[in-house]
Amino acid sequence: MGPIAFDNSFARLPATFYTRQEATPVERPSGIRVNRPLAKALGIDPDWLASAEGVATVAGNHLPPGAEPLAAVYAGHQFGSYNPQLGDGRALLLGEVVDADGRRFDIQLKGAGPTPYSRGGDGRSPLGPVLREYIVSEAMHALGVPTTRALAAVSTGEPVVRNQFHPGAVLARVASSHIRIGTFQFFSARGDHDALRLLVHHCLVRHYPQRADDDNPALALLESVIAAQAALIPQWQALGFIHGVMNTDNMLICGETIDYGPCAFMDEYDAQKVFSSIDQGGRYAFRNQPSIGHWNLLCLAQALLPILDGDEAAAVALAQPAVDRYPELFQAAHAQRLADKFGFTEILEDDRPLVDAWFQLLTDHALDFTLAFRRLRDLAAGEDGVAQLLTLPPAADDWLARWRERLARDYLDADTRRARMTRANPVFIPRNHLVEAAIRAAEDNGDFSPFHALVERTAKPFDYDPDDAGFAMPPRPEEVVTKTFCG
Ligand code: AMP
Ligand code: MG
Ligand code: MG
Repeated sequence: MGPIAFDNSFARLPATFYTRQEATPVERPSGIRVNRPLAKALGIDPDWLASAEGVATVAGNHLPPGAEPLAAVYAGHQFGSYNPQLGDGRALLLGEVVDADGRRFDIQLKGAGPTPYSRGGDGRSPLGPVLREYIVSEAMHALGVPTTRALAAVSTGEPVVRNQFHPGAVLARVASSHIRIGTFQFFSARGDHDALRLLVHHCLVRHYPQRADDDNPALALLESVIAAQAALIPQWQALGFIHGVMNTDNMLICGETIDYGPCAFMDEYDAQKVFSSIDQGGRYAFRNQPSIGHWNLLCLAQALLPILDGDEAAAVALAQPAVDRYPELFQAAHAQRLADKFGFTEILEDDRPLVDAWFQLLTDHALDFTLAFRRLRDLAAGEDGVAQLLTLPPAADDWLARWRERLARDYLDADTRRARMTRANPVFIPRNHLVEAAIRAAEDNGDFSPFHALVERTAKPFDYDPDDAGFAMPPRPEEVVTKTFCG
């Protein structure tokens, strides 16, 4: 057995699901970072991963025993328009591993060279997007958000051309699986119902085994994915996270966040906020994320219709109530996230005006989303905390009095409240200007120390340390990042 104990279930699916494809070797692979705890959790020796052979494996220059590299095919709605064939254009599934708890994970190489689905693209990734994905996906994990993970990053020693030359890199990404809504759309659009059924079975066994024996597997999967996304997206909203490219090919069946392209955490609160340079209409603006999630799930339901029931009307009668439950599931999960942020046991009907007034205050005074909520946590805990970093305006006094009065009426005990508020109100998030600075230092000067420092700091997002105030501070005006770009 080799250094990675592969067990490749996706590769055992019929050939219509993928094209077998090896990585294209690169000139001068060089290790950037190994995620040691994650490697260990997957049964991979971190020292091996950091060795020349491990680095060569991530770079695509060495094929470890048991790997069966392939590019998966999928389709998807991109900014609302359907593209019948996408697929892994610059990523390869190396294989799968099963951890000590029996959980199965994909190991994918992102930026490993062209595939049949590259559509004229180079199959490569510049260093910047690899570092961004490493930083933000690992920060999301530390924040408790279901997400794909970063196992390792290597540089290729080869240039990648976008608007200019960039150093190239490869990211080894880990996910419970990379199967997307778009994977279902691909087979549905072609009328390949056998493939749809196989895919449903594969996903149920893998991600929702408790429902694998349901009478209607397609309905079981649909309901499970709806529940997973209705739990995930409220977490983004509660953190001020803007995904930026919520196409149906970027929404995973397993419910993990994927595709950290033009994503960003907002600094000043603005519900309309958009960062992505290609999102001109604001389709994926912060406040639209919940309803876009709903729209994407409707696409999944539509793709599953032919196998939900042989009779179309009967299929719709099954799918519609499942999709219609999303708003209610979303609202319940979102209300609980907000309750935790404000320090309440739950959000009561009477609390709505108070909640709305808070967001109005953030909007009117362009307050920093993360620090403003963190300040509430500090006030409730009776700590100075981030007081030096954010001053609430005098206009907040009335609101704070109402909030305190509401806290006094809540029966949550002080310790539980503090614990919940701390976990709901992180202080260290991967702020855009810090991500940009880390990328600039690496791309321009080959200096990876800001990247490493940011990864390490955001791994512990909840405990404030004034020595690290620089990581918690909003950008100065000249540091503000207004646009993000896909890699
Ligand atoms: P994304 O916007 O990252 O979700 O990518 C959308 C599609 O474009 C996917 O099929 C990607 O594999 C493909 N793609 C993006 N960048 C490249 C590239 N540089 N080379 C080949 N395919 C790419
Ligand atoms: Mg994508
Ligand atoms: Mg992308």
